Amino acid sequence: MKKIILFFLLSSPLLAQNKTENVFIIMTDGFRWQEMFGGADSSLIFNKEFTPDSARTAGKFWAKTAGERREKLLPFFWNTIAKQGQLYGNRWTGNKVNVLNPYWFSYPGYNEVLSGYPDDKINSNDKTQNENITVLEFLNNQPKLKGKVAAFGTWDVFPYIINENRSGVPVNAGVETVRGNVSEKEALLNDIQSQYPSLASDRLDFVTYHLAKEYVKKNTPKVMFLSFDETDEYAHEGKYREYLFAANNFDKNVADLWNYCQNQPQYKDKTTFIILTDHGRGDKNKKQWTSHGQRVPDCYQIWMAAIGPDTPALGEVKTEGQLFQNQVAKTAAKFLGYEFDNGKEVGKEIKTMLK
Ligand SMILES: [Zn+2]
Repeated sequence: MKKIILFFLLSSPLLAQNKTENVFIIMTDGFRWQEMFGGADSSLIFNKEFTPDSARTAGKFWAKTAGERREKLLPFFWNTIAKQGQLYGNRWTGNKVNVLNPYWFSYPGYNEVLSGYPDDKINSNDKTQNENITVLEFLNNQPKLKGKVAAFGTWDVFPYIINENRSGVPVNAGVETVRGNVSEKEALLNDIQSQYPSLASDRLDFVTYHLAKEYVKKNTPKVMFLSFDETDEYAHEGKYREYLFAANNFDKNVADLWNYCQNQPQYKDKTTFIILTDHGRGDKNKKQWTSHGQRVPDCYQIWMAAIGPDTPALGEVKTEGQLFQNQVAKTAAKFLGYEFDNGKEVGKEIKTMLK
């Protein structure tokens, strides 16, 4: 009798549990779906205004077909995620991912991702404390996850977007050093970020990444937000070579983190990555690739990816469909078995991402 009951319990779909115990939301700022799915753009990589040393850049990222180009630019996305995970947003195949907020720039986008609520009141990138409760704050308030949520970003506005003081989620962003009992690597990274001759307005992404990785090693967070920024920075400067290298480095860092997780018992086969961007950039008028915001057409167009033990291996989704940026928060919580609610009208979970 007992055996029969046990069999029933184990086989009941109502009791089916997700394998995911850790969720990482990873973003790179203002990286276009056009490069995600098409690799380097011929009208920009062979344009002397945007790519002065075309030969060297093309040597690294150019190929005849879009399939080869995107694999050169983003090898982890196209060799691993496209085989084991999911990629959405290739509008050339009719698959769409949209931003719902009307502004198409950073703070409104990160708020939409993290709070699930496209807030009309958030209409600037100013350092104002976010009134909306993010999914990071929501999860940090769950007894089982308290103190196991963290955020690392290159952009120094994240402590406000995540409302670090209210949420209790530690946020390391801008050129913030790591304090307390620092490891040898953290000490070196602290030195690097204060000493390198950077012309960027924030720290470089590789420093953000390695500080985040050290944090993961030391503190084994269950929920992690990690945000890169150089793709946006260099695009605004009109530097297509740097934009491509930043995207390629972003891909390498995501690959490194994934491989690290797959070699740790705490994370192996129990970790889901949700990866996306906060807004698109111009495309119709080729000069507008440097910019975004309401005045630039189509910057509501983004992409999204996921990989993990509960995500069916659909690869590049080429069927007609529509996802929205406001669905990430609810989906991230769902992977961990929680129904995200912050009192606002938040986007629905993405059903196809979870078995
Ligand atoms: Zn942005």
